[in-house]
Amino acid sequence: MRLPTEEPHFLEHGIDFSTDGEQIARLMAIPVPRRKSPNHVRKFDGGRRTPQEYHAEYGFPPSAKCAACGKRPSVRGIVLAPFDEACKRGMLPPSIVDPTAAMQALVMVKSGTEYTPHLRISTAYACSSCRGAFERVLAKAPSWCVVEVNRGPDPNNRILA
Ligand SMILES: [Zn+2]
Repeated sequence: MRLPTEEPHFLEHGIDFSTDGEQIARLMAIPVPRRKSPNHVRKFDGGRRTPQEYHAEYGFPPSAKCAACGKRPSVRGIVLAPFDEACKRGMLPPSIVDPTAAMQALVMVKSGTEYTPHLRISTAYACSSCRGAFERVLAKAPSWCVVEVNRGPDPNNRILA
């Protein structure tokens, strides 16, 4: 099968009509996916801010402040103690008299396949410049405590919107 080679519309698209019709049909049927150039990849939040800045703005309650300097925090640390351990050491806060307050302070922590009740002892925040010192303080927590650190999105992860 031969197609009209003088058709300028087809020639524009670089199709060589000297080849057989089957090959042309194959070429025309399969759309070749174009790779998006990096300039056309949608940026996180329209490029207005980084995922880290976004997390620092909305990730924590508006009242949260860096424990050292009072700036807007980017890291949160929560120290949790196993409930029975806290009972043994007499660490229960006075609010434990109120059962609803106690229930709010209780967090189930999964270790392996078991869930054990933990008591939220303290919650603290740090800004990006005080973060190093903050993490060193968290590392000094007693070994029987569980420390949860929310560092926000990893800057090494490429996030596309
Ligand atoms: Zn700070």
